[in-house]
Amino acid sequence: MVKDIRRVDVLVIGGGVVGSAILRELSRYHARVALLERNPDICECTSKSNSAIVHTGFDAPPGTLEARLLAEARELWPQVIERLHIPYLQTGALLIATSDEELNTLANEIIPKAERNGVALKRLTRAEILENASYINPAIVGGALVEGEGIIDPFWTTRAYCESAVLNGARVFTSESVVGMSVEESHISVHTSSGLVFAASLVVNAAGLWSDEIARLAGDYSFTLTPRKGQFIIVEEDHGVSQIILPVPNRISKGILVTPIVFGGVLLGPTAEEVEDKCDLATTAGGLQQIRQGVAKLVPAMAGAASVRQFAGLRAVSRTGEYIVRPSSVSERLLHVAGIRSTGLSASPAIGRYVGELVRHQLELALRDDFVEELPEYLTETHADEGDVICLCRSITRGEILAALRSPLPPETLDGLKRRTGAMLGDCQGNICMPRLMQLFQQQRGCDPLSLNKNYAGSSPVVAHVSGKQPYATGGEV
Ligand SMILES: Cc1cc2nc3c(=O)[nH]c(=O)nc-3n(C[C@H](O)[C@H](O)[C@H](O)COP(=O)(O)OP(=O)(O)OC[C@H]3O[C@@H](n4cnc5c(N)ncnc54)[C@H](O)[C@@H]3O)c2cc1C
Repeated sequence: MVKDIRRVDVLVIGGGVVGSAILRELSRYHARVALLERNPDICECTSKSNSAIVHTGFDAPPGTLEARLLAEARELWPQVIERLHIPYLQTGALLIATSDEELNTLANEIIPKAERNGVALKRLTRAEILENASYINPAIVGGALVEGEGIIDPFWTTRAYCESAVLNGARVFTSESVVGMSVEESHISVHTSSGLVFAASLVVNAAGLWSDEIARLAGDYSFTLTPRKGQFIIVEEDHGVSQIILPVPNRISKGILVTPIVFGGVLLGPTAEEVEDKCDLATTAGGLQQIRQGVAKLVPAMAGAASVRQFAGLRAVSRTGEYIVRPSSVSERLLHVAGIRSTGLSASPAIGRYVGELVRHQLELALRDDFVEELPEYLTETHADEGDVICLCRSITRGEILAALRSPLPPETLDGLKRRTGAMLGDCQGNICMPRLMQLFQQQRGCDPLSLNKNYAGSSPVVAHVSGKQPYATGGEV
């Protein structure tokens, strides 16, 4: 028997960058809003495993919702970055043609398409490119500069959206997987894996690659999403690369690129592989080799760079390739925001705004006059000079770790702490600092290291207590 039904006006399913941006926009209204995420932390799926580029949308298919939202996002980003204090670098992107055929595609397809999307590209000769970026392959034939492209931290962005929403009254429930839904006349009942039941006037389905499965829970079989895998390599040496280096894009993907990472290091990739399994995040020898071959065409010195980490992400591809933002075929109360394939991070401010408006009209919500646009100052303080250095590779101090553990949306896992602070991201990948981080976690959050997971349930790095003792003393200073 269900004892406790939580009544909300709007329930967002999915704590990726899209669901989080929507949650923030919804928190502008007089409404009870909540978000359900099945993982122990937000941003655990596609939103954390991408190229981290804020695209201008120069190569989006003109006239599509994607192109429109990317154009709107270009206008919104400066204020989002400023108000939510998101680390961002406007590096610009060099679009490189390695053959006469690619140069023709650039001149006859890409540049006209960019113009239709409202983005001006600047043509560059081979000599102009090599003069400013001597690391580029001398065998190139020409290219173009996309000034407006930049790099961002996707996790920071997602967390900032969520923290802003939470500080404005929204609720975020992690480790709550949606397992059932029933559409009633006045609301939708949503059931979660832990037994919670929500009665929502409107449900926003922003479950990424699983949005089609969420739709099916409501009896809606109107769309299917397939995974397209992208593998990446992270390297520490930058070989002077300070801009995003892109090949001329093709119809399937933007191609294998070389891009600086906002907190240091360089990202190489991604591949674009059709796979069947929505959980297939494996990196493969073939995929990594393909990346190195692609990189060799752009920045030869980086092709053999030592990898500090490899990972893969899965794009959620709809049959048409277009964004699916519309009410469900079974009920107006279920709104799909799905198939956000390769540009969801870039378009997120505009997707949030667009969906927020749709919901406002449907539920006739009124704007609050006490909505706080800016994250408070205390959340932006670095704390870098407080306490000793805990993560030696990235010089992360105790103050920075404690600030993350006390934030409005604190980490529940070691990976959550890693993404909030940068600790464990350097060369040692946590081998040196993890025990001290676990102890701080234990002191601040009161959790037993045996139950503190690296990421998912059952991934604790601690195997057992020795001699029946607690692994760490509680209370004392680490
Ligand atoms: C290789 C690659 C490179 C990319 N590069 C870029 C780039 O440079 N710039 C850019 O703008 N975009 C890029 N993208 C695209 C971008 O990453 C996505 O568009 C974006 O992350 C999609 O966000 P999302 O919130 O829709 O999905 P997700 O991040 O997948 O979020 C969906 C969430 O729903 C949750 N969920 C699923 N089922 C349930 C359930 N039953 N109950 C509760 N929660 C559930 C999931 O756990 C997940 O957290 C790239 C993507 C890939 C794969």
